[in-house]
Amino acid sequence: MNRRVVIQTCNICKDKDRRAKGYTATGQVWKNESKAPSFWCCDQCYPLAFRKPNPKRGRGRTRRVRIPTREQWFKSVRDSWDSRRHCFRCQITHVALDLKNKKSPVYPTLEHAYTRKGAVRFLVVASAINDMKSDLTLSEFRKAIPLVCKCLKRNPHAKHVKGLEKVLKKLKQWRR
Ligand SMILES: [Zn+2]
Repeated sequence: MNRRVVIQTCNICKDKDRRAKGYTATGQVWKNESKAPSFWCCDQCYPLAFRKPNPKRGRGRTRRVRIPTREQWFKSVRDSWDSRRHCFRCQITHVALDLKNKKSPVYPTLEHAYTRKGAVRFLVVASAINDMKSDLTLSEFRKAIPLVCKCLKRNPHAKHVKGLEKVLKKLKQWRR
């Protein structure tokens, strides 16, 4: 008998050399042969794709933030995959991410970015970059960084210090 074996590709990296396993919508290994799995995922992408984001933020982990739906998160993870270099990249700085070491400065984390109209976007961002950016919006971060560089010296120009003060005092999402 001629049995056809269909090799499925991972829904995240779409890498043909990696074997994908079937998963249910909640991330359990798919066993029910009568129903198609919700998702195909390789072992490399699984821990990131099915990571459960923590909705608690802030110093005492007391602040609740919106977390992405599974579909929104899959999209972010897919978008962060670099198919040419075969790695995941930070969606803010493009540094290659290390999925294996949770303590790595380049371990992927969930970042909330806001559009000009205030809609939330979910990004995959290197842990250290996420910490640096903190509660700043992307445009605030972009404004603050060059000013911080100019102020990081013994006698910074007063106009740069003033400029940085202005940016800091106007932070929109800053909450502690
Ligand atoms: Zn994959």
